[in-house]
Amino acid sequence: MSRKILIAGNWKMNKTAAEGVALVKALKAALPCGGVKRDCVHGPEVLVCPPFLTIPAVVAEVAGTCVKVGAQNIHFKDCGAFTGEVSAAMLKEAGATHVIIGHSERRQYFGETDETVNLRAKTAVAEGLTAIVCVGETLAEREAEKTFDVVERQTKTGLAGFTAADFDKIVIAYEPVWAIGTGKVATDDQAQEVHAFIRKTLSEVFGADVAEKTRILYGGSMNAKNAAGLLAQNDIDGGLIGGASLKAEEFAAIAISALGK
Ligand code: PEP
Repeated sequence: MSRKILIAGNWKMNKTAAEGVALVKALKAALPCGGVKRDCVHGPEVLVCPPFLTIPAVVAEVAGTCVKVGAQNIHFKDCGAFTGEVSAAMLKEAGATHVIIGHSERRQYFGETDETVNLRAKTAVAEGLTAIVCVGETLAEREAEKTFDVVERQTKTGLAGFTAADFDKIVIAYEPVWAIGTGKVATDDQAQEVHAFIRKTLSEVFGADVAEKTRILYGGSMNAKNAAGLLAQNDIDGGLIGGASLKAEEFAAIAISALGK
């Protein structure tokens, strides 16, 4: 089974609505298909995840193109007294189709745990959004040779309770924390080793079909120079890209390097 490559941009807390529109205009122009939907069938899936307030303007700008729009977080409740949070219904109404869940910055600065990641992922999938669930070890954990333990725990707890059918709406992003925003990218072999391990874990818990169909993205200082090597690995099915997704030509170049995989 071949898995469609997903090239996803995490804009983090960057780009006002006007700046976001300018960025996706430039992105459309830089994509080989010009962003035109009918010409994109053979290319990778391209997704941008702007800040909440920027989503509607970006959704309007990418209408009729192959570029999809996601959010960077979601709350697990439908509504209520959760100051500062955003629900699935709100995201869907704004036009988002995907949501990043459990990014290491959410875990580090906002108290996200494997359990809340699981709750948020369940809500996203139940509401028809594609959940991009992030896992990855810190530098201290890697140095203590805990990488596989950490990634296994995050995968098993973060995805607990899902059925095989749910995995049509689940993507995993392996993002070693030490590689995020640091310019220190995992080597192709280091990344492939962990991706293969995550796929093995999926197979043990959810079965071989789920393991085979689930896309596992790499994230951590991916750029136009290192993307081709990473994307050539058997178990790397795309990228979750921070810094380089803020530059239209570089982000498009990463998508172009996925052509033919
Ligand atoms: C990220 O924020 O998910 C990320 C991978 O960032 P960067 O590409 O800047 O390392």
